Amino acid sequence: MPENGFPSDDHLCERCGYALRGLSSDQSCPECGNGVGESDPALRTGLAWQNRISPIAWLATCWAIVARPTRSYRRLRIGDDRGRRRDRCFLAIWALLIGLTWGLSRLDRGWEMAIDWGLGAAFGVVFLTYIEAFGVAYFSRKRGWRVPWPLAERVACYAAIGWVPAAIILWKLNDLILDGSIKHWWPQQLGPWTLRTEVLVLTLAGGIGILWFETLVWLGVRQVRYANQPA
Ligand SMILES: [Zn+2]
Repeated sequence: MPENGFPSDDHLCERCGYALRGLSSDQSCPECGNGVGESDPALRTGLAWQNRISPIAWLATCWAIVARPTRSYRRLRIGDDRGRRRDRCFLAIWALLIGLTWGLSRLDRGWEMAIDWGLGAAFGVVFLTYIEAFGVAYFSRKRGWRVPWPLAERVACYAAIGWVPAAIILWKLNDLILDGSIKHWWPQQLGPWTLRTEVLVLTLAGGIGILWFETLVWLGVRQVRYANQPA
């Protein structure tokens, strides 16, 4: 094996976490059969947005995360602290887009409501993304995964597109609540439509909407939890 070759002492199989020391890159992981070379950190070439800042790179990254989340997170570059501003920027753009859409959709009810809704949605996206990242970092530490805070933040930021279903569901539901039509649709067997029902239904819908974001984060964590640091 070359002196700086892969794998080195603390390199793990990225699929199962088995320690690969003593094996050469053309062998297979004794635990899961994955090729040793497939855990080479050199394969983490980065998402388009990690490599250049442009509208095309942003769109390409969104598409990659939606269409091929596992493969995209497998390519996620790790360990470069300078890239953290880009991660946050990716999230910020999504927060802005969701906030703008929510705000503009409420313009017919006045500027004040539009601004409240827009800011609420944008801050909600950022706040919940960071709650998720804290959770990921916390559980990773407990389980001995290699997902410290900066990487948990990165995985969560690139999953931000996963907020779109929640944003649409809650937005539409709020439309129905605001114009009062939900009261007519609400099945009377379930009791009258009260504030309590409203909170319950919104929480339930939010919980269902959140699943997509959660799934993306989970797929991401699976692809980085045994990630090897670049040389
Ligand atoms: Zn393995």
